Amino acid sequence: METSTEGASPEEGAVAGEAVAGVPAPATGESVPGGTVTEQNVPERSVPHVPAPVVARAPASLSPSRAGDFMQCPLLYRFRVIDKLPEKPSEAATRGTLVHAVLERLFDAPAADRTAPRAKSLIPAQWDRLRESKPEVMELFADDPEGERLARWLSEAERLVERWFTLEDPTRLEPAERELFVEARLDSGLTLRGIIDRVDVAPTGEVRIVDYKTGKAPRPEYAEGALFQMKFYALVVWRLKRVVPRRLQLVYLGSGDVLTYDPEIGDLERVERKLLALWDAISEATETGEWRPRPTKLCGWCDHQAVCPEFGGTPPAYPLPVRAPGSGAG
Ligand code: SF4
Repeated sequence: METSTEGASPEEGAVAGEAVAGVPAPATGESVPGGTVTEQNVPERSVPHVPAPVVARAPASLSPSRAGDFMQCPLLYRFRVIDKLPEKPSEAATRGTLVHAVLERLFDAPAADRTAPRAKSLIPAQWDRLRESKPEVMELFADDPEGERLARWLSEAERLVERWFTLEDPTRLEPAERELFVEARLDSGLTLRGIIDRVDVAPTGEVRIVDYKTGKAPRPEYAEGALFQMKFYALVVWRLKRVVPRRLQLVYLGSGDVLTYDPEIGDLERVERKLLALWDAISEATETGEWRPRPTKLCGWCDHQAVCPEFGGTPPAYPLPVRAPGSGAG
């Protein structure tokens, strides 16, 4: 079992025997807890810009992104999951969504045609689709009438797509699944869910879970935080398929690194215990309405400073029924 940050060649990043085969597969989830202010901690797919009013409900499941939110700041979790406060799209998150769509769609082409020029040629159509499905992303370029910033932004997306080809060779890959939604209910009743960017299954049956990041790889001391999301997915796949994924692979397009980890059952059991403890804390906060702010340097990326007590704001009225703290489950 090892953790490594590689400037990997396709061979270095592969599951034994290299991935192939369209094996019917699992179903899965999403993103990252924080610890340092780096681009990889910026959520890559932004929370939808949901117009009010929104019906508040107690959380019923956990994804890696939301688990990361709670670990970063419980009040942020409340704003996102319970109040569902709208958030502005960000350039980094929107570019991440665009690049993910391009990498996913490229596998529609025959293996030999999965070239960098072809991938880059998909960007305009995928950008059109993104604007149609999420018109709010155009707010990003509202003050850019000449389109100069948009052109730079699209060039950066091209650069990220191009870099992927130095890290993996899509002509040698035949993903079993792309953008796979997965959901598993644990014995405790907790439901885990998320979306896995890519699942490769080798002829031997070994499973590799792959996630693309458009930010930079974390420094080694923060690698554990980055791997949390991947272990979360591995736990879901294990619970669904009774197969422990052979390899977890994070592909950092921003820095050209590949971070891999080969999990063991003990890792997944530890993640499950951690998630159960986290869920207990979330349930307690949901029932009592006690959501503490936890200010860190990541507050600089938070859209909710105006309603955060740490910044002189007042949260909206808590929309769920509450019980007194410490009075037991209600
Ligand atoms: S500003 Fe900081 S402390 Fe306040 S809700 Fe956002 S992340 Fe939490």
